[in-house]
Amino acid sequence: MTEFETTILNISDTESSDEDNLPPRKKAKFKRNFLDYFKGAIYENLTIAEEILKAEGEFRFKSANQTECGMKHFYKCKVSSKCSAKLYLLLAEDGQDVIRYQTNTAHDHLQKNKTSGVQGPTRQLMVELLKNGISGPSQIQASIRDSGLPIPNRKQISNAKAYLKSIEAPRIVSLGDLEKQLSALLTEPTSQDQTILVGKIIDFEKKTFHFMLSTPRLMQVLTFGDCLHADGTYKLVLENFPVLVLGTLDKNRNFHPISIAVSTGETEQDYGNIFRILASSCGTKYEPKVLIADSAEAITNGFESVFGSNFVRVYCWYHVSAKIKDRLKQIECPETRRELKSDIDLLQLAEDKLDFDAAVHLFRQKWSGVDAVKNFVGYFIGEYIDQRCGWYEGTAPGFPSTNNGLESINGLIKRQGTLRKRLPLGEFVNCISKLLSGWSSERDPQLPDYKRFRLEPVITIAAMTDAYNWFKDTSRPSTRQKKINDTIIKFFVPAKGTRSLDEKDIANYIQLTEKKSWRKFETYRKTKEKLWVIEYDIINWMQSRCNCPMFKKQHICKHLIGLAANRKDFNISDACKNVPIGIKRRPGRPKQCKQALIVE
Ligand SMILES: [Zn+2]
Ligand SMILES: [Zn+2]
Repeated sequence: MTEFETTILNISDTESSDEDNLPPRKKAKFKRNFLDYFKGAIYENLTIAEEILKAEGEFRFKSANQTECGMKHFYKCKVSSKCSAKLYLLLAEDGQDVIRYQTNTAHDHLQKNKTSGVQGPTRQLMVELLKNGISGPSQIQASIRDSGLPIPNRKQISNAKAYLKSIEAPRIVSLGDLEKQLSALLTEPTSQDQTILVGKIIDFEKKTFHFMLSTPRLMQVLTFGDCLHADGTYKLVLENFPVLVLGTLDKNRNFHPISIAVSTGETEQDYGNIFRILASSCGTKYEPKVLIADSAEAITNGFESVFGSNFVRVYCWYHVSAKIKDRLKQIECPETRRELKSDIDLLQLAEDKLDFDAAVHLFRQKWSGVDAVKNFVGYFIGEYIDQRCGWYEGTAPGFPSTNNGLESINGLIKRQGTLRKRLPLGEFVNCISKLLSGWSSERDPQLPDYKRFRLEPVITIAAMTDAYNWFKDTSRPSTRQKKINDTIIKFFVPAKGTRSLDEKDIANYIQLTEKKSWRKFETYRKTKEKLWVIEYDIINWMQSRCNCPMFKKQHICKHLIGLAANRKDFNISDACKNVPIGIKRRPGRPKQCKQALIVE
């Protein structure tokens, strides 16, 4: 037997044995389990989530599956099921929120479907011809026919052309042209929704530029929001100039864009220039207290150079969590991985600096001796404790801890209108002008359903139902209360699945949380998961606070609504009371509520 034959035999051998052991269908299923989904936006209900997915137009429904953690609705890429971009919606057990989980891989259906494109020598020849200025499809077909290679069709030729154009477009921009285009926007706006140039800094010598666009109405948002969200995006401008979207969240966690800036770079100086434009446009009165962005230090430093150091830097938990999860993959044992993640999630809920420091101390003590996680713990402490720890909830209580609102607006920019593909700078400016104008007019109070800036969280029907069921649940262990002063009452609520609290439990809890005298991380966890404390404001109940995770994320929770309803500070509408305990409320507004809403 020759060597050649042996090789062939070996290959066919392994192939057949593979097929025997793993039928192709099973193989595919096995593979899917390795996909890593990241937690994304939280939607109020399924209908809204479905509407958003439909508007995004990227995914289509595939299947629904009842799992241990709840109902999952799976979606796949609209273009190709081979595409790595996938997502599912998790319907929470309590029937309230719908959470979006998405793979962190971008759409790659183009690469995966490449077999339909032209490959090999034909492609080489075609590229050669195109580069030499032969662009007519029939000319190309004729030349390729002459060489005896397979002939591409017209569609394949135009695809190849588009591809070449996209990688070889010249990076030329004339600063003079840009200045002219921007100056045209500087005219006195005739309406609140007309795009204006907030400011520009163009340096002809250094060949750099920075400019910011907005509308008069969008700029007004600055007077409400004392937190500023900033997020950079690329892949919007053909020349690869970074685009920075600035905005703020209202107290109902809705994102409101303020402006869009484009610059030549992403250094501290670049961000400094952008923030300088923002600051000079609104005089001295604008003093943002919180800056929320991903981990880029250049943003922090640029911000500080303009607004001073008296601000809190919040690192977007969504970004931090994604990076941590990525690193966790290095740890082999899945249980260890899960335990670490759950410990970090608990750190994230820390209520203030002292609480966080105490928890971190216990975390270090628990994990630093474990050899299997040495690398990870070293990375985590170096990056996210020593260098930047502003990702826990207590960093800026009452402010959001993620940039999720902004993430989705960047997605929106990419999807809306002609912005689905990269544009040359000049066209891009025209395009974002329209975009800003559109966002602005959506906020016109003359419209019946305009997007308003909420100064308080909206209490949804689902939240009211949840609160009502929680409070009326007779099997629930009883709540204790303690009057602190004339305005504050503290309520101690046992967490779900725990027994009723006695005086000793509460004294113990107060002592531990005040003195931070935990000895072990596990005791810390037990304390934190034992009960929730509501600091109830008698005069203005909406100013009350709860330390449950829901409140930390959404600034409202069932405990607070339930207590307020019980104290007659808040009225749960009757339509929310018609659901027997234990049965999930269907998403959306109940029909009985319609009349009441019209009166409102
Ligand atoms: Zn795709
Ligand atoms: Zn609560």
